[in-house]
Amino acid sequence: MTASVGVTLTNHTDSVVDVMRRADFAVFAAKSAGKNTFRFFDAASQADLVYRSQLMVDLRSALQKEQFVLWYQPQVTDDGRWVGMEALVRWQHPEYGLIPPATFIPLAEESGLIHQLGSWVLRTACQQLVAWSADPERELLTISVNVSGKELQQPDYVQRVVDILQSTGVNPLWLKLELTETLFAGDIENIIEKMQALHAQGIGLSIDDFGTGYSSLSYLRRLPIDEIKVDKSFLEGALVNPKAAAIVKSIISVGLNMGLQVVAEGVETVAQRNFLKEHRCRVFQGYLFGRPGPADQPAPAFTVLTDAAVSREGGGV
Ligand code: C2E
Ligand code: CA
Ligand code: CA
Repeated sequence: MTASVGVTLTNHTDSVVDVMRRADFAVFAAKSAGKNTFRFFDAASQADLVYRSQLMVDLRSALQKEQFVLWYQPQVTDDGRWVGMEALVRWQHPEYGLIPPATFIPLAEESGLIHQLGSWVLRTACQQLVAWSADPERELLTISVNVSGKELQQPDYVQRVVDILQSTGVNPLWLKLELTETLFAGDIENIIEKMQALHAQGIGLSIDDFGTGYSSLSYLRRLPIDEIKVDKSFLEGALVNPKAAAIVKSIISVGLNMGLQVVAEGVETVAQRNFLKEHRCRVFQGYLFGRPGPADQPAPAFTVLTDAAVSREGGGV
């Protein structure tokens, strides 16, 4: 038997009901922290808990109410050309405004809603690709879609993707799926099989946040992937910390030596871009080149960013 204990402090003016309610919240917090432990009540975490459970309720109807929007962030080559866009979902909540995915994706995963949400994201991105294929300025852009580990673990995931490819009529060669290394902690053989099936459809596969999870060089050899993305946490330290720099350089080398495209994300300064360029990374994504925005975001977001323009802007440092 184990116990989860909630503790709250009180003065003589609190009602019994209030004290019990706070203790209850604290017990819940202790359970959420993995059980068999104790937590003190604190007002901030109560507010957070109320907020999260409200979002959890609202999430169920958010798809029907068309409250999700897909934003796009450019991926740029070293000569300033736009080569692709990463699709990033946002939730336009009627009461709380624009909610970032880091807040609601975990809730969607917890509630199982991630499958419907993931299908909506993929379908919307495919429809966007079809629309862009008729636009001479954007017909050469790929779209990268983030896939939650939970989605890929669904037995029918590949079939869902194939259905969406067929119903939208998209050319799969312009579509990329971004997977994270947390996937490889599970049933790796099954995951590899699914990745091969997706790859056989012509879809590009990318490993997101490379180096932050369960990466193993032996998996890398066996996975049918086209691209790795250098996580922004490595890049953040690269210019000040020689170890972080060594990691970035090594990731780029491993990727390039395996014939993969290497994309650096979280590029915020000209100095970072130059460091990456010097070490042969050729595709960048980050605030320096453009923030995520609506698909129909007007120029100048869609104008080509040349070297000269970057230096004129002062690099957004
Ligand atoms: P991610 O896939 O690593 O996406 C990159 C995140 O970094 C995005 O945050 C982007 O806005 C942000 N970012 C881009 N450039 C810069 C920069 O220069 N500096 C800094 N500091 N940040 C930058 P966002 O849009 O809030 O997304 C957060 C995470 O949510 C994503 O991380 C991804 O894991 C997840 N996510 C987003 N959309 C989806 C989706 O449709 N499905 C799933 N399953 N996950 C998604
Ligand atoms: Ca991503
Ligand atoms: Ca990432």
